[in-house]
Amino acid sequence: MPPCRACRHTTGQIVLDLGEQPACDYFPRCDDPGPDPVYPLQMWLCERCGLAQLVADPTVPQEPRAAEPAALAAQAADAVGRAATAGLLPAGARVAEYGSPHGGSWLPLLSDRLLVPVADGDPADVVVDCFGLMHEADQHRALAGRLARLGAGGVLFVQYHSLATIVRCGQWNALRHGHYAYYSTKALVAMLAAQAFSPFAAWRFDLYGGTVLLAAKRSAEAAKILDAAQAQHDEGGAVADLLAEDVRVGATDPGVLRGLEGGAQATAIGLVDWLVAERDAGRQVLGYGAASRAVALLCRAGVDRGLLPAIADASPAKHGLRMPGTDIPVVSPAQLKASPPDSVLLFVSDLRAEVRAAFPEVEAAGGRWADADSLARTSMIRKGLLSSAV
Ligand SMILES: [Zn+2]
Repeated sequence: MPPCRACRHTTGQIVLDLGEQPACDYFPRCDDPGPDPVYPLQMWLCERCGLAQLVADPTVPQEPRAAEPAALAAQAADAVGRAATAGLLPAGARVAEYGSPHGGSWLPLLSDRLLVPVADGDPADVVVDCFGLMHEADQHRALAGRLARLGAGGVLFVQYHSLATIVRCGQWNALRHGHYAYYSTKALVAMLAAQAFSPFAAWRFDLYGGTVLLAAKRSAEAAKILDAAQAQHDEGGAVADLLAEDVRVGATDPGVLRGLEGGAQATAIGLVDWLVAERDAGRQVLGYGAASRAVALLCRAGVDRGLLPAIADASPAKHGLRMPGTDIPVVSPAQLKASPPDSVLLFVSDLRAEVRAAFPEVEAAGGRWADADSLARTSMIRKGLLSSAV
């Protein structure tokens, strides 16, 4: 086993093994019959620092072709608003951003607030990492690079999809090539501590079922802020709450993480059950959202175009291509307007509000939007793998 991407320790265990999977960002042409190359897809949990991570990634990242979801842009605006309200984004501060290939940049919003973007590598007062860090193979070096740019008093913001959410919602298909780390708050705090930084504030958001924004400073500065907050009887407990949630949902427990595997099987069966029922009822189905999590789900379920004839996606670069590992073509969402299907199976539930508003034709024609994640949950609850309380 290669050493931990954060602490370099070599002891740990595989907690999720999805077997051989195609690269989720390699969309072959429809006339390419495959088979597509496949690669092992496994999550490993470091015993020392607790970072859940991708074991190996022999895939080559493709040019980002996805359209930025409105929900991701909205979360960026929300996050900037909350950080500004906390007084952490003063006008004139120098800012550096480490962004995500999936969108959600803070920079235009920060420029509007009169912060000053600096050139690559230059010192900054504020470093923003919005879903960027998970794309770094060497987690220790990536974090060190970000922190090295901060002078005294500098703030690092890190926004991430939390491992607690992945566990709580059974999101086994969050595991994908190109995403090297899956953060519990405990693991991220340990990564920061190893470089003498500590979080002093945190905010939660609903995107992807639950994301977190942490603000961190040098440990001595963070401790002063937390002490002052306690002196004022301020809540100040957001980070402690997140650590408690890790424990409550089992995000740091290898046994609980191994439960994601059973969820993968149940959701795959749930998807096939639903698609077969739709077909038997004579209902026409179209998928929506050719995202990485759809790739993993369709591969696991072994679904082909016989059950799901096509998946619509907003990114024109994907039209005329097919989903990796299956023969399902990606088509233009214009098809939803031209001939609305009876059911649209949404693979990215965060797009729901956006697509319902964009394609009123579906519901006007008596069609309905179904959510692949909810089908999965229904199936898992039925099989006793998930509590109906979550
Ligand atoms: Zn580690």
